[in-house]
Amino acid sequence: MSGDLPTDPDKRKAMRQLAGEAVKHATRLVPGSRIVENWDGALFQKLYESGMHRNTALPKDFKDMHGRKFFRPPGALFEDKFLDACSRCAKCVVACPENVIFVAREGDGPPVGTPYLKPNHAPCTLCGECMEVCPTGALAKTPVGEIRIGIAVVEPDTCLGYLQKDCKACHEACPLEPNAIDFDATMPKVDSRICTGCGLCVKACPTKPPSIVVLPRPARSKKGDK
Ligand code: SF4
Ligand code: SF4
Repeated sequence: MSGDLPTDPDKRKAMRQLAGEAVKHATRLVPGSRIVENWDGALFQKLYESGMHRNTALPKDFKDMHGRKFFRPPGALFEDKFLDACSRCAKCVVACPENVIFVAREGDGPPVGTPYLKPNHAPCTLCGECMEVCPTGALAKTPVGEIRIGIAVVEPDTCLGYLQKDCKACHEACPLEPNAIDFDATMPKVDSRICTGCGLCVKACPTKPPSIVVLPRPARSKKGDK
């Protein structure tokens, strides 16, 4: 990857504005705490324990909010629509300036020939080039604040902030505004309304292995909002 964040200041400013707009809207719908707790806690626990980021199996019947159990590039349609639309042309793969879009091969998980991301190994800078070049609409042009690749989750056993140390690496790496990572004293908390699952925080985390990982976003609960 050539850098952690887009270097073009105009692109970065536009990205922040778009994210801010989307978040303002979301905040109107969900007033109160910045931390939305409408996720199925037991499912999250299972997801984390399954070690998705360690490349082991997810619960058999798990599907994320887009009907899949792996990560697609920004703007990817719901999985069945995506598979209908995507022509496997690989234009997104070629366009990605960070070289973080992979073409699935046999055994990788996603259907062979389709593009996917590995945000825990190679973060996406949310530049939007892939959505721009996609000729079929399989990657729909989506404002930065509405991109949902996955969601970052903190591992409290090893996170330096949870060990009362002063570390803000994940917060500083987050490209969004408002920032998706807030703190409870020194402990980082991910705001699910804001996080895109880009993986920049994972790369920035100084612990080995990282104490923040991107997991697939579970489908929203019926009562939940974002
Ligand atoms: S937005 Fe698309 S093209 Fe840009 S870094 Fe992310 S995956 Fe690559
Ligand atoms: S550019 Fe669009 S159609 Fe081509 S491989 Fe990527 S997602 Fe599929």
